[in-house]
Amino acid sequence: MGLSKTIWSNPAEFLRTVRPENPVIFFSPAVLQAAARRFLDGFPGLVTYAVKTNPSEVVIENLAAAGICGFDVASPNEIRLIRRLVPDAALHFNNPVRSRAEIAQAVELGVQSWSVDSASELEKLIEMVPAEGCEISVRFKLPVAGAAYNFGAKFGATVELAVQLLKRVAAAGFIPSLTFHPGTQCTDPHAWEAYIRAAAEIGTEAGVRVARLNVGGGFPNHRLQAVLPQIEETFALIDRVVSEAFGVHRPALVCEPGRALCGDAFSHAAKVKAVRDGGHVFLNDGVYGALAELPLVGVIDRIEVADGEGRRRDSALSSRIVFGPTCDSVDRLPGELMLAEDIAEGDYLVIHGMGAYSIATNTRFNGFGELTIATVLSLRL
Ligand SMILES: *Cc1c(COP(=O)(O)O)cnc(C)c1O
Repeated sequence: MGLSKTIWSNPAEFLRTVRPENPVIFFSPAVLQAAARRFLDGFPGLVTYAVKTNPSEVVIENLAAAGICGFDVASPNEIRLIRRLVPDAALHFNNPVRSRAEIAQAVELGVQSWSVDSASELEKLIEMVPAEGCEISVRFKLPVAGAAYNFGAKFGATVELAVQLLKRVAAAGFIPSLTFHPGTQCTDPHAWEAYIRAAAEIGTEAGVRVARLNVGGGFPNHRLQAVLPQIEETFALIDRVVSEAFGVHRPALVCEPGRALCGDAFSHAAKVKAVRDGGHVFLNDGVYGALAELPLVGVIDRIEVADGEGRRRDSALSSRIVFGPTCDSVDRLPGELMLAEDIAEGDYLVIHGMGAYSIATNTRFNGFGELTIATVLSLRL
């Protein structure tokens, strides 16, 4: 009996050795830590991680090892997860609607930063949370384009309401801050500009000096071959516009990326169960599994086809309809995918950039979706 091998060179080595029947997600700690360093080095403020994006313990542990020491959490379970893995981390409870039981547990677990977007939820916090040293950030929204998926439909106060809320936060003795989320996979840096300028106006209008400004997540990961995320440009723009808009009262900055930290550190492999009568491709994972986000945010074109030996198929591309394994007809990847034309039963479809909203949203519907995480040195097939 030899040592079991737990770190693989690359996805191909795993595929040819294990020949997995279930879907696999390949994880590169080096890529994750490099993404964390890119934010820590480039962002002009505190970098926190939005835990919901991918709450795998290996993700939290590697981010902490790289120097991430703040986390955006949305539930008592996420709070306990971070308390267990990174005991000293700052916890930002930035889900603006919480039950009283959730608030009580979060107070107990030492949360000192909260966000709100309504008067009713703010009154709950004022009633239940000791104000001393505690921050409440008012979350506001603007009708701004640029993201793949708009978060403003659910959360965020109008600018007018945000002014009232910010005044109330300050009057109640909490540290008054502002926060926004420009929408996820936001490839247009200028979306941040409008928000930052509005934040300065909210502060002025309320007559409150904004202690911190949280510029959200929304930073993109690499989904389309032709579109490389311009994260440094966005950092520079944020830095410049905050100084212009707030002048000498520049607030400290916070960001809470999810996707941009973990997205590119994972690649997903689904096995081709069948090429039905030479046409449609059926995979062993789909929109009820780790590929849940593709119909919402748009398909990723960083796709390769490997044969059963893990060798990349390099033939010409042809367009295919691709289905997942469940019996539900919506279990289909959006549109048609350009895949190597000699794709065959027993091959693997490898999709890169799959670390965000994949492991976390797998439903196991119809008994499918048993996902293995395999650690690799390199994500190159
Ligand atoms: C989901 C979420 C994030 C992370 O968003 P990404 O687009 O993945 O960066 C950040 N902040 C809040 C409040 C969120 O709900």
